[in-house]
Amino acid sequence: MTLATASSAIDDALARIREIVGPKGWIDDAKTMAPHLLDERKMFTGTARAIVRPASTEEVAAVVSVCAEAGIPIVPQGGNTSLVGGSVPDEGWDGILLSLGRMNRIRAIDPLNHTITVEAGCILAAIQDAADEADRLFPLSLGAEGTCQIGGNLSTNAGGTGVLRYGNARELTLGIEAVLPDGQVWNGLKGLRKDNTGYDLKQLFIGGEGTLGIITAAVLKLFPKPKTRATALVALAEIDKAGALLSRMRAATGDQVTGFELMPRNAIELAIRHVPDTVDPLTEPYEFCCLIELTSADPEARLGEALEGALGAAFEEGEITDAVIAASEDQADRLWFIREAIPIAQKVEGGGIKHDISVPVSQVTAFIREATKRIHADSPDIRIFAFGHLGDGNVHYNLCWPDGQRDQREAFLARWEHFNRIVHDLVTEMGGSISAEHGIGRLKKDELAHYAAPVELEMMRKIKAALDPQGLMNPGRVL
Ligand SMILES: Cc1cc2nc3c(=O)[nH]c(=O)nc-3n(C[C@H](O)[C@H](O)[C@H](O)COP(=O)(O)OP(=O)(O)OC[C@H]3O[C@@H](n4cnc5c(N)ncnc54)[C@H](O)[C@@H]3O)c2cc1C
Repeated sequence: MTLATASSAIDDALARIREIVGPKGWIDDAKTMAPHLLDERKMFTGTARAIVRPASTEEVAAVVSVCAEAGIPIVPQGGNTSLVGGSVPDEGWDGILLSLGRMNRIRAIDPLNHTITVEAGCILAAIQDAADEADRLFPLSLGAEGTCQIGGNLSTNAGGTGVLRYGNARELTLGIEAVLPDGQVWNGLKGLRKDNTGYDLKQLFIGGEGTLGIITAAVLKLFPKPKTRATALVALAEIDKAGALLSRMRAATGDQVTGFELMPRNAIELAIRHVPDTVDPLTEPYEFCCLIELTSADPEARLGEALEGALGAAFEEGEITDAVIAASEDQADRLWFIREAIPIAQKVEGGGIKHDISVPVSQVTAFIREATKRIHADSPDIRIFAFGHLGDGNVHYNLCWPDGQRDQREAFLARWEHFNRIVHDLVTEMGGSISAEHGIGRLKKDELAHYAAPVELEMMRKIKAALDPQGLMNPGRVL
């Protein structure tokens, strides 16, 4: 086939795709395409022949079949909030971007089975609302929940603030419907708690970052809706006390801890500086604070008393030095606001080098100590914002240029790989993960290749080659 005939075959295929999705499902003007082609962190831009927005699984399957036949690569996109550049094509790229946003129906809620069946383009917050209306809880919750879509959440195996109690996206998913790279539809929408019929195929798509197929729908677990909560902000006597405090809280409250978030002083101060209405209710500038939340589905549960009792004992044992317990829902929301303001403040500050890492929960504070020692031995003035889901062993260990030296930003960012090596070497020494919840995408592909065992990479490549022999699904991501 000559170049001219190949390009006319692609043009024909694109015309067929346009027919399949109709005018509402086809975007090719530069202005409307632009936000889809720039990632959340404004680090990556790309190009695409068109943005294709199918309205049903059948349309996705038909589009993917045409692409498979014509050899057109596909980048799936949900809410485009990925922090690792996974949802945006490369520059000079010649495929289509497949946006799931029109597939946003809640297909069914089964309150007695505690499940909800949703299409991939449902916004996460809309699923939470639908569950709430049925007097149930869908516990996946994260800062981008007003924008991200469940297809993106599952494709990145998202975590968020409820993992300690309810697990991450993988643990919240019972079934999946997916379109395979050859256009076949796999209907795995089973709402079963028990199903041992061979390989658990849905797990390939969860955390698959769109490289093995397109998730079009899912059956998700629901839980009894919490009727009471108790929230506190506590000052740790020293960071090493965090693990003991978490264990104490879990044991003393009948394991009702839903959130256990670490917030260091410098991150709280950055939030106060950059995000209006952020207020630290503690009277002194303590070096490390934890936000603790308990919830219960029992409206009579005396969570406030349980929290107060456990914190009193923690105080006696020298684990904490101060605490504020929220006296109302509004106060609890304001405590969470501080935590949510931290990543926003970092963005306003100008970004930095993010490390979304995990280690065993018992090792988190040792990790923070040792990593900080190594970073400061290398570059003493670098600011380190180490915050996050301590209860899950997941720290956002983010580095920033020295305070007041914004003009050093570019030179600092140019040392990204150097800092990666320091942090990720330690993570690996401690048996941790270089990507706890954001995935691999484009940003961490080389890191995965560097740290994963050869046998792991080989298994992944074999799975990819078996399902997507032409390499058309989100090419160049993950592997
Ligand atoms: C403010 C903020 C806070 C965040 N907090 C957290 C947090 O606490 N925990 C956490 O885990 N993440 C967090 N994230 C990261 C991000 O929001 C999550 O990774 C989210 O799950 C991505 O969903 P999305 O719909 O935006 O996916 P996108 O960014 O559109 O896509 C992510 C990846 O999934 C693929 N994909 C998307 N939809 C599909 C589909 N239907 N089928 C196949 N592949 C698909 C894409 O190709 C891409 O590789 C945060 C992001 C922001 C901006």
